Amino acid sequence: MTSFDIDSLRLLPDWKLQQDYRSLGDNFYSNEHAQHFLAPQLILFNEALAKELGIIGERTDWSSAAWASVLSGQALLPGSQPLAQAYAGHQFGQFNKLGDGRALLLGEGLDLQQQLYDIQLKGSGPTAWSRRGDGKATLKAMLREYLISEAIHALGIPTSRSLAVVATGQPVFRETALPGGVLTRIAQSHLRVGTVEYASHLLNPQALEQLVHYTIKRHYPELEDAHHPALALLETVIQQQINLVVEWMGVGFIHGVMNTDNMSLAGITIDYGPCAFMNAYSPATVFSSIDTQGRYAFGNQPYITQWNLACLASALLPLLAEEKQKALELAQDAINQIPARYEQQWLVKMRSKLGLPGMEPQDAALIHDFLAIMEKEGRDYTNTFLLLTGIPVPEQPASDVLSQWMITWKERRGTSLDILEATTKEMIKSNPVYIPRNHRVEEALTDAADFGNWNKWMNLTEVLQNPFAYKEDKSALMLPPEGGDGDYCTFCGT
Ligand code: AMP
Ligand code: MG
Repeated sequence: MTSFDIDSLRLLPDWKLQQDYRSLGDNFYSNEHAQHFLAPQLILFNEALAKELGIIGERTDWSSAAWASVLSGQALLPGSQPLAQAYAGHQFGQFNKLGDGRALLLGEGLDLQQQLYDIQLKGSGPTAWSRRGDGKATLKAMLREYLISEAIHALGIPTSRSLAVVATGQPVFRETALPGGVLTRIAQSHLRVGTVEYASHLLNPQALEQLVHYTIKRHYPELEDAHHPALALLETVIQQQINLVVEWMGVGFIHGVMNTDNMSLAGITIDYGPCAFMNAYSPATVFSSIDTQGRYAFGNQPYITQWNLACLASALLPLLAEEKQKALELAQDAINQIPARYEQQWLVKMRSKLGLPGMEPQDAALIHDFLAIMEKEGRDYTNTFLLLTGIPVPEQPASDVLSQWMITWKERRGTSLDILEATTKEMIKSNPVYIPRNHRVEEALTDAADFGNWNKWMNLTEVLQNPFAYKEDKSALMLPPEGGDGDYCTFCGT
C-alpha cells in the first residue's frame, strides 16, 4: 500500500468496525483480503449516507487517496478483518454450495440508532468461494448497482445501499477486456435464506440453531423471548418477504435472479444483478439473459417468493419440532398462508395506488380490469397509474376502453371531497413519477463509464432521488423508450 494516511479519512472519533458475524464461528466464513489493485480511484462516494451512518462528520475530504484505498480493500478501516461469508442456495431450482465469491465483509458499523450494518466490498477479487469465477466486477455493473439500489431506496423500498464505487484501474475479462470496479455496499446484514440452507444442509443442527439465534438477535430482537424461536423467525421472514415483493410489484421492479441465496433474512432487496424496471405492463416481462424460462418474470415474483420461503421452512425443519411429521405440518401451515396474505397486501397496495377508500368486494375485479387494459394496449405500467393522479403524463392519452374503465373507477372513489383529497394524496405517495428506465440507465452508464461524461447520470439520479415529485422540465425522463424495450437484456456476472 502506498501513502496510506488514516487521519486523512477524517472518520468520526472512535469510529470503528465490529466483527459481529464472526461470533457464528469459522464454519460460516473464510478469512480473506482484497486483491492488489495498482491504481484504485474513487469514482462515487455517497456522502449523505456516510454521514447518516455516523462514519464521517461535516468536514470531510472524501476524495483523498486514502478513501480509494480502503474502499477497494487495499488498506483496512479501523477494526476491519475482512471475510467472505459462507452460504448455499437454490439457483434456478438447483441446490448449490456458494458463498461470497466476489464479496468481502469488512465488518459491521453501528449506526446512529445503534443498529449494526454490514460494510461489504463487491468485486474485490477471488475468495475461497469463487469456484471458477475471477472474483471481480466491471465498473459499469457496479455503477449500475449503485444507481438502482439508491433508486430503490428513494422509492421507499427496503434495500442494501451503495456507499461508493472505486475504479480499480485494472481490466476485467468478460467477452472483452472491460474496466474493473469495486462497489461498497451497506446492508442491515447479508444473511440470506441460503445462509440457513447452508447451516442446515451442509453444517449441523447446532450451527443451524446458532444461526437462528444470531438472526433473531440481529434483526428481530422482539422474538428473543419467543416460545418457539425457529417458527417465529420463519413467520417473521415470511411477512417481511411478502412486504418486500408487494413493494416491488407496486413499482414494476423485476429482481431478475431470485435464487434463495439472493433472498435476505432481513427482508431487504439484495444482490442486484440482472434487475430492471418494467416499462409496458406484462406479467411475463423478463430481461435477464439467463432466465430463458421466465422463472423470475415480473408476474412470477410472488410465486417464487413462496417457493424460496418453502426452502427456508424446509431448512428450518430440524428446529421446528422433534417429530418430523409435526415439523412438516408447522412448515406447511406457514407456507400455505402465503398466497392469501400476499393477495390481501397486494390489494392494499393497489387500493392506495388507485386512490380507493376503504375496502369493497368489487375492488379486485376493478384492479384486474385495469391491469388487463394496460396489458392489452401495451401501456406503460408507471405512467398509466400516474394518468389517474392528475400529474401531466406526456404522450399517454387514455384510450376509449381506459376512459370507460375510469368512469367505474371514479364511481368507486365516491364524491366526498374530504375522502377524495385524502385518497389523491395517497395516490401521489404511491405512484412514482420517475423510475430508472432501462434506456435512461444505459445511456447514463455508457456516457459516464465509457466517456467520463456524467451529465446524464446527474440528470437522472437527481430525479430518482425524489421520484414522487413531478418536475415539468424533466418530463422527458418519464417516457418509456420509443418502440418499447426491444431486445433489452440484462446480465448476472457482469
Ligand atoms: P449472484 O446470483 O450473482 O448473486 O451470484 C451467485 C454466486 O456466484 C455467488 O456465490 C457469487 O459470489 C458468485 N459469483 C458471481 N460472480 C462471480 C465472479 N465474478 N467471481 C466469483 N464468484 C462469482
Ligand atoms: Mg448473490
